[in-house]
Amino acid sequence: MTRTEKLLAELIALPSVNPAFVPKNVVGTARRAVRWEAELPSAARAARPYLLAGEKRMADFLASVAARAGLEVEFQKVLPADFKRWGETPGEPVLADGHLGSRGRSPHQTNETDLVRYNVIARLLPRNKIRQTILLAPHLDTVGADGSQFVPRRKNGRLYGRGACDTKGSVAAMLTALCELAKAKSRPSETEIVFAGLVDEENAQAGSRALVRCPAFRRFGQPAAATGRLKAGHQTVLAIVGEPTRLRVVTAHKGSLWLQLETRGRAAHGATPQFGQNAVHEMARVVDMLETEYAARLRKQRHPLLGAATVNVGMISGGAQPNIVPDRCAITIDRRTLPGETEAGVRREITALLRAKGLSAKISSTKLAPCVPLETNPKLPLVRHFLRSVGQTRFAGVDFFCDAAVLSAGGIPSVVFGPGDIAQAHTADEWISLASLERGKNLLLNFLKSLP
Ligand SMILES: [Zn+2]
Repeated sequence: MTRTEKLLAELIALPSVNPAFVPKNVVGTARRAVRWEAELPSAARAARPYLLAGEKRMADFLASVAARAGLEVEFQKVLPADFKRWGETPGEPVLADGHLGSRGRSPHQTNETDLVRYNVIARLLPRNKIRQTILLAPHLDTVGADGSQFVPRRKNGRLYGRGACDTKGSVAAMLTALCELAKAKSRPSETEIVFAGLVDEENAQAGSRALVRCPAFRRFGQPAAATGRLKAGHQTVLAIVGEPTRLRVVTAHKGSLWLQLETRGRAAHGATPQFGQNAVHEMARVVDMLETEYAARLRKQRHPLLGAATVNVGMISGGAQPNIVPDRCAITIDRRTLPGETEAGVRREITALLRAKGLSAKISSTKLAPCVPLETNPKLPLVRHFLRSVGQTRFAGVDFFCDAAVLSAGGIPSVVFGPGDIAQAHTADEWISLASLERGKNLLLNFLKSLP
């Protein structure tokens, strides 16, 4: 068993379900239960979905692995949002202690009702003065799962379990590469390499949003006097965001907008519908227009790496009972955007189409934070160097949204790269090819070794 595989199996066994996917009514109980959860057998954990929530187990474990390899470790507090009580600001590092001793533990719950979530950051300093920083940035959270998916299973050259490809495979490949680099004879003399395990990618990307707020990682960031070790005057020249791309270097992905459209009518008795105005009927026309005319229009504009933008009417609700003419109906659409498209532009486009058809609907946004498209300049020297280093000749794009767009919007040129296939992500029998995992680690290690 390789080091990468062993680490991945250990990570799969540490549940890190994004709390957003754990039923609300049990989260409160979970927070009280966290202290004794570690002592529970896995079967008992399986029966308590709330015990699977949060990235803390992952962050603590990775911190100890990194510290053993001689990397400098720190944590960056991200959530809860109520930072005032801690007397600190979001995005600040919690500990600037590189050596995991008695002080080197992650921040603990401040009281029983907190579910503390923080990025774990491990850095390998170059021999000489730092001239540039490279970021390896996979996420720590996963989507929901039942208890059996936290027992890693090896079969036919694959490792099965929640997070195997999305994206604990990338976590294992990236951190193992960095740990091996730390022990290697030849390593960069002027490039600092930072592993950042990020929280909350699967929901609102709070981890990557906090990371780019940190001055040390902004491309043109100024040294931050007050933030301990997270100070730097040099540039973060490239972020490699870990997601299953089948080891292709991805420079573009679509953005995602969730918009709600609401039609209004006038209620009346179901026996005399002629006295009312039916909001569901109005919405039926809106849905038809979006799924036919609008979708066809979107198919006409194609991005060279991403193809066309799309629209999906994913949810609908309206009406109270059969014998009332409904006065309200609402849909939620998922509009996948291409680089260059903005939310304001999409709203204008839909509003104009509705108006042309004599329809009216109120449009509002339902996402917590913007999920913009990614388009990194493929001509950037380091991006080209990475592409050559992994033996790829053409750039690739993917449909799915990830942290790369957030880091990129924050000023860090970002690409997506990792072992595994997105086709297995979020599925009940998630797996990763062990050959792909090992190859991913080796490709990363070779690239890092080639840096100045
Ligand atoms: Zn992912």
